[in-house]
Amino acid sequence: MKSVERERGGAGDVSRDRECYRCDRDVAPARLFRLVAEPPAALAHDYQTAERFCCPDCAAAMNLSEFSERLKARARRGEKSPGR
Ligand SMILES: [Zn+2]
Repeated sequence: MKSVERERGGAGDVSRDRECYRCDRDVAPARLFRLVAEPPAALAHDYQTAERFCCPDCAAAMNLSEFSERLKARARRGEKSPGR
């Protein structure tokens, strides 16, 4: 038996933003990438800005994940290979 916590009080399905929009995997909100597609001014009357949240795996699959400068600097210094 599973007790479902549905005591939000009919505010709609706003609780969906804690999962990846591509793979539907449940991901903690703190670990989701925020993707924002902002239309150029010329198309602004046809499109509106879209916002999606996806997991790090999907961001990497779309080449949208970029490592931080800190990690890149470490890789440049050759600390990636464990050879001594
Ligand atoms: Zn995903």
